[in-house]
Amino acid sequence: MKTALLSDVHANLEALEAVLKAADERGAGRILCLGDVVGYGASPNECLKLIRERCQVVLLGNHDSAASGGPEAARFNPNAKAAALWTTRTLTPDNRDYLRSLSLSDKVDSYLYVHASPAAPRDWEYIFDRFDAEPQFQFFTEHACFIGHTHQPAIFERSSSGCIYLPPTRLLFHSAHRYIVNVGSVGQPRDRDPRACFVLLHEPAGEIEFVRVPYDIEAAQEKIQAARLPLVLASRLATGE
Ligand code: ZN
Repeated sequence: MKTALLSDVHANLEALEAVLKAADERGAGRILCLGDVVGYGASPNECLKLIRERCQVVLLGNHDSAASGGPEAARFNPNAKAAALWTTRTLTPDNRDYLRSLSLSDKVDSYLYVHASPAAPRDWEYIFDRFDAEPQFQFFTEHACFIGHTHQPAIFERSSSGCIYLPPTRLLFHSAHRYIVNVGSVGQPRDRDPRACFVLLHEPAGEIEFVRVPYDIEAAQEKIQAARLPLVLASRLATGE
C-alpha cells in the first residue's frame, strides 16, 4: 500500500494537478493532506474541489484557519495577510464551512499527522532544525509524525544518541528509532527547488520517498497576477524561496 502525503498546496492548482498525477502514476492508493490547501495562490476553490474529492484525510493549516474566520491573519506578514483577505472573499460559503470543520491532527496506523507541530498544533510552531525537533518527540507516542508548515522537506531521526537531521531522500524507517518527517510543500516550496514536493509512504515496509514534480509555474504566476495578489507571491514560485 502506498500513501501520498501532501501539504501546503496554497491554492496552486497547477502544482496540485501535477502532484496528483504523479501520485496516481506511482500507484498511491490513499492520499492525505496535512493542511494549508489555501492562502497565497489564486485557485483556492479549484484546489479544495480536488482535495475534497481525492483525499481520505485533510487537516487544518494556519492559512486555512485564517481564511475561514480564525484569528491567525493578525500575526501574518503583509503579503500573507493580503492573500488571506483575498481568499476569505473568494471562497465559496461551502468551502469556508468545510475548512472550519477540519481537525488539527489525525492518527492513522502507527503514524501521527499534524500541520505544524505535535506539541501544540494550534500554536503553529515551526520545526526547522534538529533543535526544534528534539523536544517535540515527547509529545507523541507513534513511530513517526508527519508535518508540513515550513515548506522545507526534512527528516528528523531520534535514537538513543539524540536527534539528527537527515536529507529528504528515500529512507526505510528503523524500527528502534522515531521520526518527524516534513513532507515539503506542493504549491510553494521554500528549499530553493521550485518543483512541487510530496512524500510517498510505502507500507507495511515503513519506507518514505520524497518526490519532486515539475509543473507549469508560469500558469500559476499568471493567475496570481490576474487576481491582483501581491506579486512576490508569483515571483517566489520560480525560485522556490
Ligand atoms: Zn503553508
